[in-house]
Amino acid sequence: MKEGRVTYPDVAKLIPTGNHAEILDFLFARGLLTRECYESEILCPACGSSSLKDKYTCLSCHSSRIETGEMIEHYSCGNVDFEVKFIKEEELRCPKCRKELKLIGTDYRRIEKLFRCNDCGKASSIPGIAHVCQNCGTVTTPEKTRLHILYEYRINEEKRTEIDFLAGTYSPLIEFLEKKGFKIESPAFVKGKSGIEHPFDITAEVGGNRTLLDVRTDKESVSETEVMTFFAKIMDVAYWEAILIAVPRASEYARRLTRQYKISLVEGGNVDEILVSIAARYLDRPAAPPSWAGERALVSQAHVGNRMQATTVGVTDANGR
Ligand SMILES: [Zn+2]
Ligand SMILES: [Zn+2]
Ligand SMILES: [Zn+2]
Repeated sequence: MKEGRVTYPDVAKLIPTGNHAEILDFLFARGLLTRECYESEILCPACGSSSLKDKYTCLSCHSSRIETGEMIEHYSCGNVDFEVKFIKEEELRCPKCRKELKLIGTDYRRIEKLFRCNDCGKASSIPGIAHVCQNCGTVTTPEKTRLHILYEYRINEEKRTEIDFLAGTYSPLIEFLEKKGFKIESPAFVKGKSGIEHPFDITAEVGGNRTLLDVRTDKESVSETEVMTFFAKIMDVAYWEAILIAVPRASEYARRLTRQYKISLVEGGNVDEILVSIAARYLDRPAAPPSWAGERALVSQAHVGNRMQATTVGVTDANGR
């Protein structure tokens, strides 16, 4: 943790851009990572900042004009005050009744450290606590703050093969698409018509046309369930093309479903096979065919003035082609 911001230095080394917390969350949702609560940080309930400064307060009047120290109780007059107020040169003298304190246990007693309010005079062994937001100035108490859980992530050993495969596939795949002129986001969170943000492994965009890519692996063959899950996501968002990469292959039923759902299916057992299949898709056509691009431009025009709408218009367009 640095200056109130959480950083994951190891992730930063692997993935130099993007929101690392978001990426870890994404990998966790994919089941590739496991996580455990590492610690929690206090957030301002007003602005969400974790940059808070603590103050001790009086439990009765909430004033932050608090003093603390060892105290002395003078039995004969009942005065309770900080020890320093009793010290007069070499002796102890009560600041209230002016008598000298001679014998501990008989004349007076020492009291452990106390917190005393300068406004109302009340003392207590535990002070109240207030958090002052360094961002918006809101003063809050532990009862009202929000807690943000920080997680410690670990690789899910059961998914080790999948992780190794993905780690070896993503960079060459992204590199290839970037060379084709696509603007890449990986992972990407695409807001759907429903308002739900859908995670995709990769989105590749060129000339306003978005291609959605998910990579799914299985020991045998990727099942129809994965195809249906992918379809449920793409149905809700605007896209140009939806590509499901099945490693090493898709099941027969899954294959049939992709045709029915107009999902482009790429199968391959290793990085090279996948890259060859992807490359073949763009061999004899540019990333964004001019005729399609024209159609899309018209659709976008119709929705000018409402950007949220404009980002969701591709669905019928892409399904209907
Ligand atoms: Zn006294
Ligand atoms: Zn007080
Ligand atoms: Zn705040």
